[in-house]
Amino acid sequence: MHVREVSLERSFVVRLASGADWRGQLEELAASEGIDAGWFIGLGAVRSAELWYYNQSVGQYEPFAVDEPMEVAACLGNISMLDGEPFAHTHAVLSDPEGSSVAGHLNEAEVFAGEVFVVGFDRPLERRYDPVTDLDLWAIDDAA
Ligand code: ZN
Repeated sequence: MHVREVSLERSFVVRLASGADWRGQLEELAASEGIDAGWFIGLGAVRSAELWYYNQSVGQYEPFAVDEPMEVAACLGNISMLDGEPFAHTHAVLSDPEGSSVAGHLNEAEVFAGEVFVVGFDRPLERRYDPVTDLDLWAIDDAA
């Protein structure tokens, strides 16, 4: 386990723009406000989405599309720096008219409406390649 103490430095409430990309808008906010580490939670609705599932046995993301309007029953994620740019690692649970849900790593989604609460931390977080998982994980070297 690797641990870093952080303090909540800034916070924002965000109404996402209809028609734009869910994750992209959070990365735009991070870039414009200089948020290099943070956390967010949100809800709303999307017109379509592309979710990813990480296949651990082959070390690759497998995308799947959701091509109908869905509720964003829950969305959470974090902001850190990847290759010098803010990356909004985003997961979401999307639900259909019957209340059935799909969930996963949200790559992109066309927003219908979205409300997100974002907090920025006082210390930056960067991602670095991790050979064990084949993922870019937080580079926290302070072992606990
Ligand atoms: Zn993910």
